[in-house]
Amino acid sequence: MENNNKPVVNLISKPENMLKTIYTACRTCYSADYPINIYEAADDEEKMLKLIKRVVGSGHYSTIEHIQVSFAISNVSRACTHQLVRHRHMSFSQKSQRYVKEKGQFDYIIPPTIERNPELKEKFIEFMGKISDQYQEFVDAGIPAEDARFVMPNAAASSLVASLNLRELIHLANLRLCTRAQYEIRMLVKGMCDALVAEEAWLKDYLVPKCERFGFCDEDKSCGRKITHAELFKEN
Ligand SMILES: Cc1cc2nc3c(=O)[nH]c(=O)nc-3n(C[C@H](O)[C@H](O)[C@H](O)COP(=O)(O)OP(=O)(O)OC[C@H]3O[C@@H](n4cnc5c(N)ncnc54)[C@H](O)[C@@H]3O)c2cc1C
Repeated sequence: MENNNKPVVNLISKPENMLKTIYTACRTCYSADYPINIYEAADDEEKMLKLIKRVVGSGHYSTIEHIQVSFAISNVSRACTHQLVRHRHMSFSQKSQRYVKEKGQFDYIIPPTIERNPELKEKFIEFMGKISDQYQEFVDAGIPAEDARFVMPNAAASSLVASLNLRELIHLANLRLCTRAQYEIRMLVKGMCDALVAEEAWLKDYLVPKCERFGFCDEDKSCGRKITHAELFKEN
């Protein structure tokens, strides 16, 4: 596989009737009508969006938990997937290092800071080669892959299918599109958001870093894009 160091992300599943489903969830809370009647009568996109924006904007998040999306993800490091799996409302099925035995040089991700430095890049590649040789020696000696993998690095490339509901995706975007998140998970989450926005353009305003959503930055080391929390509430 060519290592271009970029996560490969594809949206593989989403409900066809996303907007109508969320609208029905929102309307049901404030209507005497049956949800099925609300659903079947819903045909005005502008009206649906207006209500959804108002309800979601006021923090009524259960209405967007009904929407589940799935992504096929590859060419990401184990360091990155380890960060991703910290999100507890997501579901994962990841390529196993126990069951999938590496044959030859395993795929790996080179961080851009090392990629940009030819001398260090060469050392990095050489080191990955040594790890691969050691792994193969263990496997050839009959050590099971599940134990040989103990020498594998954080750089080893991985693949997974990840699913989550829309509330969790917005939360994920808020945290991981922030410049304080590491570059790789930022690119991965941007890829997930872009793939969904390509089909559901109205979500663009929600799939943003947290500072865009809240209007201020709560990080210790702010990138300066928005006023910090401390500046916002400082006494004159
Ligand atoms: C820039 C950055 C740096 C980080 N650095 C570190 C680090 O150095 N070390 C480290 O260990 N982790 C680190 N993390 C991971 C971080 O601590 C979280 O584990 C991760 O971001 C998942 O976020 P979350 O818990 O908000 O989200 P999720 O697990 O996706 O949960 C979403 C929301 O559900 C609610 N929730 C979920 N589970 C519970 C629960 N058990 N109790 C109460 N509420 C819950 C919370 O409101 C939570 O925000 C870092 C994350 C970021 C973005």
